[in-house]
Amino acid sequence: MKDGLRVTVWNEGVHEKRDEAVARIYPEGMGKPIADYLAKLRGIASVRIAELGDEGQGVTDEILDSTDVMTWWGHCAHDEVTDDNAARVKQRVLDGMGLVVLHAGHFSKLFKGLMGTGCNLKWRDAGEKERLWVVDPAHPVAEGLPEYFELPETEMYGEHFDIPQPDQLVLISWFEGGEVFRSGCCWHRGLGKVFYFRPGHETFPIYHNTTVLKVIYNGLRWAAPSGLKEAVRGNVKPLENIAKKA
Ligand code: ZN
Repeated sequence: MKDGLRVTVWNEGVHEKRDEAVARIYPEGMGKPIADYLAKLRGIASVRIAELGDEGQGVTDEILDSTDVMTWWGHCAHDEVTDDNAARVKQRVLDGMGLVVLHAGHFSKLFKGLMGTGCNLKWRDAGEKERLWVVDPAHPVAEGLPEYFELPETEMYGEHFDIPQPDQLVLISWFEGGEVFRSGCCWHRGLGKVFYFRPGHETFPIYHNTTVLKVIYNGLRWAAPSGLKEAVRGNVKPLENIAKKA
């Protein structure tokens, strides 16, 4: 096996099975082009696709035990992910597993649980142009990206996006209809890191776009576990003698 990150591309896998237009774009599921792209890159040891319909909703202990970074795409079946499974994956993130949340994953139990806010936003499905601006060009997620890049047809997501202020904001989107959106956001949670990346509406071939895929790759490398398994917390002895106050 190659050295590097063990990646699980978690995909809801519902639209592809019931919507012909989506199946035409993603005949082998939305996770497939992401997994195929990542598998070829340096620093990636393995890539597996896990789906909601798989055993244990694709988040069994066996899968989580062998995942360094997980990507998460969900939309119409957020409610079908059990509370217990959402909580288990959330705990893995707090314990250090990296998480890259894609597009409609903003409304997943997992993302909302990690953010602690409503995570709602404006949206419009008009197939409009999106221009994504890099606003933190020295950030690892921006490595190799141009000043901006464009997607010709997208679903709009607009502010206000009900998230906690990102620890780092890397990308801002502008849409043809006039709205803007924080589309590449980084947070630290416990020992783990979360990257949210906006593009990925199922009826457009967004995950066939190599710049989009590059951002996912950069995001999951940024979110990779630091190696720290436990932080020192709780009651501790002082490192120095503390002078007794009279
Ligand atoms: Zn969408």
